[in-house]
Formats: sequence, C-alpha cells, structure tokens
Amino acid sequence: MDVVDRFCSYISFDTQSDENSTSCPSAEKEKRLAEALVQELQCLGLKDARMDSYGYVYARLNATPGREDVPALGLIAHMDTSPDAPGANVHPRRIRCQGGSLPLDAAGDVILDEQTLAPYVGQELIVTDGTTLLGADDKAGIAEIVSAAAYLLEHPDIPHGPICLAFTPDEEIGRGTEHFDLAAFGAPAAYTVDGGALGELEYENFNAANAHIHFTGFNIHPGEAKNKMRNAILLAQEFLSLMPPAETPAHTEGREGFFHVNRIEGNESAADLYLLIRDHDRTNFEARKEQLSRMAAYLNGKYGPDTAVLYIRDSYYNMREKIEPEHMDLIHRASVAMEAEGVTPRIVPIRGGTDGAQLSWKGLPCPNLCTGGVNFHSVREFIPIPALETMVRILVRIAAAQGSEEA
Ligand SMILES: [Zn+2]
Repeated sequence: MDVVDRFCSYISFDTQSDENSTSCPSAEKEKRLAEALVQELQCLGLKDARMDSYGYVYARLNATPGREDVPALGLIAHMDTSPDAPGANVHPRRIRCQGGSLPLDAAGDVILDEQTLAPYVGQELIVTDGTTLLGADDKAGIAEIVSAAAYLLEHPDIPHGPICLAFTPDEEIGRGTEHFDLAAFGAPAAYTVDGGALGELEYENFNAANAHIHFTGFNIHPGEAKNKMRNAILLAQEFLSLMPPAETPAHTEGREGFFHVNRIEGNESAADLYLLIRDHDRTNFEARKEQLSRMAAYLNGKYGPDTAVLYIRDSYYNMREKIEPEHMDLIHRASVAMEAEGVTPRIVPIRGGTDGAQLSWKGLPCPNLCTGGVNFHSVREFIPIPALETMVRILVRIAAAQGSEEA
C-alpha cells in the first residue's frame, strides 16, 4: 500500500469530531479509524500499537542497531475532521491539474479557482466532489507518518533512532491533547504533521486568552428613567468604544496581535461581552489583558463598583518560548530534510494555536510540519499527490537524521 492508497482508505472513515460532546473521543466513530490504524500498524510489525480508552493510538518503531540510545523522535497527527464542513461519504477524485479553474460538483457551483491551482499545474491532485471536506487535515499527516514508518521497516539499511507515533482524536474542537499520555508516548520531542502547503514549518503561535465582561445595569420604566436608568447594553457599547479600532483580526497580520469581539448578548439590566485576546509576544499579551482591566476599572470609576466585571482565562501560549531556547535542532533538522527534497522551508508564525503548542507547554517540544494539503475545513479541500509523496521522504530524512552526525 502506498501513501495515496493509505490516504484514500483513511478518508473513507467519517471521523468528524463533535463540539457539543463532553466525552472523549467526542464522537465514538473516531474509534473506527483508530482501530483500523492499530491493525495496520501491527501488520506492519509495530507490535505494541494500541488504542487507549480515549481513542488515542500509540505505537513505537524500534531503532536500527546502534541507534538504540538516540532520543526517540515523535510524530503526531490527528484523526478527527473539522465540524465546519460535512465529513461523511467523502468521494475523492484524482484529477490532473491542467491550469484554469476546476468545477468540483456536477452543477459546477463549487469551483477551485485558477489562482489557487496555479502552483499545481501538471500535478495530479486528490479533490472532493464538492459536497464534503476531503480530510487531508489531518489524514494526510497520518498517511505520511504511517508510510514513512513502513518505508523504514522495508529499508532496514537506513539507520534511525526509536520513533514514537501518536494519532489523536478531537484536535478540531480544541481537545486533542486533553488525554495525551506523554509517558505512554515515550518521545522527548516531536512534530505534529498537520500544516498546509508543502514547505510550511511552524514553531510560533499565538498566546491566547478568552475574556468575558459582565455589565450590570439598572432598569426602570423608560418614562420614569431620567437620571436613574443605567442601560447595560450602552455600558457594553461604551466598553467597546474604548477598544483600539485597528487591533482586530480584520486589520492585522503576521505577528500583530488583536482583540476579537465574538459575542454580545443582554438587555438593559445585564449584558455580557465575549472576546478573544491574541498576541505572539508574551509581554504584549499580558499588556492586552491589563488594558481590558483598565477599561473595566474606568467604567467602574464612572458608574460604581462592579458595573463591569472582567473574567479572563488563558487558553494556550506561544510554543516559541519552549522551542527557541533549547530545541531549535528540531527546526534545523526539518529545514535540512525539506531542502534535500527540493522544498524551500517557509517558517511562518501561526495565527492560531496547534496541538503541538499545548504539548510544548506540557513538556513535549512539538513544532508543526506541513502535510501538503490546501483549503482545510472546506468542500474545496484538496491535496497534490506529489506533496503526499514528498512529505513521506521528508519524514524519512528527519528520522534518519536523528542521531546522525550531520543532524
Ligand atoms: Zn489539522
């Protein structure tokens, strides 16, 4: 079985995670793919391949003779697909990219545009029928990891250290590392293989927090309200007017942070405002939290104590803080492997988070590698077959570099 066969087999499983569920995995059906992966890995010769009660799959590929003492290399991908697009009954199609745009569905309503396809002219692509996502996010990552392991097993002449594999549920709903068992996994450092276009290599992500501001007003019949009513909706509006207008997702890029207001509800008596705080820089991130706290204090000074009560919860931090001091070898090794395969590494800060960021802060440094996939979370998702094949070779090179002189 090659990487394309593997990929097509994995995407036949519906593994859409469920944001309304509190169980783990969030959807029991995720375990069907997990079971199939355990069986496949055992058939390949990874005798300890197993699924735990949360649906996580772990397996270990032993080192070749002489590399037993090299620190193990971890490779991680997630099995679930995004709830943002239908994930059942995926009908993959192989097509040769001829240039121009490409209609995906029968009616021609869902189109891959010429600009998106331009880098892939002449390549064979795996696309959808326009009704579902493809599942390259992140089954391409799984297919690439399993194919690299299979390749190393077939080529015992390629020396490598121990390799620890993990396939996780529920990444797409932000719970992919909740039950990740670092001890069972067994590697001191790892990569998630979960990025986009070929060449992407990431070790920076946002610091992230959620803020909730509760406004307490005072309601009274509007006809009797003079000098008495304090409308909570207008308090929330006043709070919003204090926010820096250019620091929103719509006005920022690269390493620029933002406040993102994503929910408001209420009436005259009480209102609740929800927002996200994002910044790559930890000092700026903390300053953003203080800024919200000063804004709440301003309203409290103006209208009385507890008019605006601010709650902030940190959700994840920038993995750069964990990678940069001691683990840049991971970035170097991945860059060298990419270049050896003719791929130019593009090291870009992620404007979001990754499972690797969470793992890095739990003690497992874990940058993110590309899968080669494009248009994730959409019915327009596709992956070029050369990207799948190249990533297998890049992973093999990374594994072979682990513990070698030139690493
Ligand atoms: Zn993903």
